[in-house]
Amino acid sequence: MSVADVPFREDFIFIPEWLSVALYIAAALSVIALIYGIYVKAKPIGLKNLVGVYVKNLGQNVSFTLRQWLLQRRLMLRRYPGVMHWGIFFGTLVLFIGTVIVFIDYDILRFFSVEVLRGVNYLVFEVVLDVFGAFFIVGLVLAIWRRLVTRPAYLENRKWDYAILAGLLYIGVTGFVVEGLRLAMKPVPWEGWSIFGNLLAGGFRVAGVSASNSEGIYQALWLSHALVAFILIALLPHSTLFHIILSSANKLRSKIIQVGRLTTPFKLSELMETGNFEVKVGFNTVQELPWDRRLMLLACTNCGRCQDACPAVAAGRALNPRLVVQHLGQVLKMDKDSWGQDVFQGAVSEAEVWGCTMCGACVQECPVLIRKPDFLIDLRRYLIANGRADQRMNLLLTNLQTHGNPFGARSHDRVMWMEGLGIKTLDEDPNVEYLYWVGCAAAFDQRAQNIAKATATLLQKAGVSFGVLGVKEKCTGEVVRRLGEEGLFQQLALENIETLKSYNVKKIITHCPHCYNTLKNEYPEFGGQFEVKHHTEIILELINGGRLKLKKGCKVKAALHDSCYLGRYNGIYDEPRSILNRISDMVRIRERERSFCCGAGGANFWYKVDEQTRIPDLRLDEVINAGADLLVVECPYCLSMFEESRKINDRYQRLVVKDISEIVLEALEESKR
Ligand code: SF4
Ligand code: SF4
Repeated sequence: MSVADVPFREDFIFIPEWLSVALYIAAALSVIALIYGIYVKAKPIGLKNLVGVYVKNLGQNVSFTLRQWLLQRRLMLRRYPGVMHWGIFFGTLVLFIGTVIVFIDYDILRFFSVEVLRGVNYLVFEVVLDVFGAFFIVGLVLAIWRRLVTRPAYLENRKWDYAILAGLLYIGVTGFVVEGLRLAMKPVPWEGWSIFGNLLAGGFRVAGVSASNSEGIYQALWLSHALVAFILIALLPHSTLFHIILSSANKLRSKIIQVGRLTTPFKLSELMETGNFEVKVGFNTVQELPWDRRLMLLACTNCGRCQDACPAVAAGRALNPRLVVQHLGQVLKMDKDSWGQDVFQGAVSEAEVWGCTMCGACVQECPVLIRKPDFLIDLRRYLIANGRADQRMNLLLTNLQTHGNPFGARSHDRVMWMEGLGIKTLDEDPNVEYLYWVGCAAAFDQRAQNIAKATATLLQKAGVSFGVLGVKEKCTGEVVRRLGEEGLFQQLALENIETLKSYNVKKIITHCPHCYNTLKNEYPEFGGQFEVKHHTEIILELINGGRLKLKKGCKVKAALHDSCYLGRYNGIYDEPRSILNRISDMVRIRERERSFCCGAGGANFWYKVDEQTRIPDLRLDEVINAGADLLVVECPYCLSMFEESRKINDRYQRLVVKDISEIVLEALEESKR
């Protein structure tokens, strides 16, 4: 190969020197505007904090960063927008890196007589940039199609969004056109490596394009391509493109915190020691939020995925998690003087705050890892602390304070469900292996009592050594914590932990996902470390160990409803499926991480929320449409919500709803006949 045949990059071909100088000036101005814009727009977070996130976190959690940021795992949960974003993201990234390489090669290294973009390097560079340029355009076309044609209901379309997409598409398309014109006007032996540019060049040649007749068009397109890019760079902090910086920062900072673990604003034990109970909980102004919470609000891309997944939105409640984040973020974007305004005076409503079931679907879906329930729970904490609970909420609080349970039942009635079953309390036998934590629903709700009876019977049949606390058990406090009454929650938690420790309890079984989550994930912070098992876990262990023998005889088509507190909060999906698969034919409905709430969580079971459709009705419609005869649940509150729907609405009469323990017990009994 002669020297003339070695591929190399020709820069600024057909571009007069004055134009190239103007380009450098425009590039410098756009970078200055970008830096200044970031400085101004990052004020609610603090530029130091924002830069600090990148400096401190980028290297620390490499695998997390790779999964969430580069592999775009959350985004890929939805195929169309996932592929769309992948194309735009990686197209932008590779084209940006390519531009930086050209800058270094042409403007720095050549002064040292070094040329990187030459020979094979240049050919690889051309292929990679052409391929990712094509991905970039495909992604943008998909995005524009989605906004103009398919228009999903959860996607808000603003003029700015169209303008930005049009600008990006212009950059992508003119990049190829300019390349094609250049090759048509001045062919080179290696032009085939510029895959798409070369294709266009062929067309241009057929159309009669040559250096003598198209130089002006080439220059105009080249200049407009660069100018649009510079304008978008300058506008980045002022547009939706700012999410490139903020969302990445939020993801780097966030890591994945268990969705079911709430923040702890104070430690009651410490307050009791000091005797000073003056503590501010919750917030009603954005200025009270720490910088990382502000970052979370500003990082929202307004993609609407949370809205689409939210049961409150589906039921026509006042709450829309996207709008909560957007509206709080809008206050932050206002003048600093506005940060002190009461957010309940326009940004959010009390109805929105109380409408959340804390199901975690919005967190699961959010590609930016924004934890909406953390904001809603802090707003609830503010409302509760300021006496803005309604009558039913106040009754709930009184019941918990007075009776230690949300039903307002007498505490000695807590043991009525176990009459005649031969179950011992820890007072009667303190040497058992497991404590069976019954929970308030199964102790006091007649229908849910069957769950406790079935679970206890299964444990007895399998020869498991267990006992109960009996009248000494109190509500875990989960319901009041989700209501926003942190003090009462911690009071109950400390009392329960003391009781459990006094019996030297090490292992706990519970059938209630709410109790499970609190005992397992929230009590450790207050000194209660226990090995906690959900009844689906222990039942499966007993079946696998041959201590419970099942017959696959159930002919009904069963659907499994994943409880939010068990599934999304704690990742328990396989155990109930393993059990059910042995007993019945399973009908698939929305499941696992994508399961739909029953409507009871977040203390919603205990007060009335205005809605167009009941959340459990929406779920039962899915179950019926899937052709199931039996809905199997794994939570007493799910059971109550669905049974309530069956009572209210004839449409659901033909469906049977049962807890998984009841199903297993029936399968056992059948096998013994
Ligand atoms: S936690 Fe559930 S109900 Fe609450 S905002 Fe998120 S998706 Fe909606
Ligand atoms: S909070 Fe998350 S899921 Fe919701 S609109 Fe913002 S970025 Fe999208």
